Amino acid sequence: MINMGSDNSSNNSLLNYILEESMSKDHVIVMEKLSEPKHDEDIAAELNLKATIVRTLLNELHAKNLVEYERTKNKKTGWYTYLWKKREDKIDEFIQSYLTHKLDILNKQLQAEKQGVTFACSCNRVSLEEAIETNFICPRCNETFIEFDNEKIIRKLESEIRKINKLLK
Ligand SMILES: [Zn+2]
Repeated sequence: MINMGSDNSSNNSLLNYILEESMSKDHVIVMEKLSEPKHDEDIAAELNLKATIVRTLLNELHAKNLVEYERTKNKKTGWYTYLWKKREDKIDEFIQSYLTHKLDILNKQLQAEKQGVTFACSCNRVSLEEAIETNFICPRCNETFIEFDNEKIIRKLESEIRKINKLLK
């Protein structure tokens, strides 16, 4: 489980951070509007956005299981209205699965950085094998490839991995 304690606001800020990183700032704003159930056209009016845009954002959040809706038919017009709700019960699961996936990617990157000696010009980074293939000259910018010290990148990856592990504890 995610160790965010009982502090709901820190869990919310983590959710917002992940939503913005994996979806967009607009998804964060729409989620924040759902502190209580609302119709899509009301959210659109509050945000001064087109209803179609808000519906698209809501559908994308729905695909991630983060919102649900209740559909009602207007007997006079025959049209449907949708009342949207945040799925508080799914937020932890969403955060956990996102972080687990990210951790996996970071660990693979770290592995690759630790194993491979890399070379760099000003436009690219390549492996030793690739550098040998082109006689240590970059075919794109014509510069000589020089050995690249990836210590900083490794440290950054390790610190990100530590942070996520702490959150997942
Ligand atoms: Zn280059």
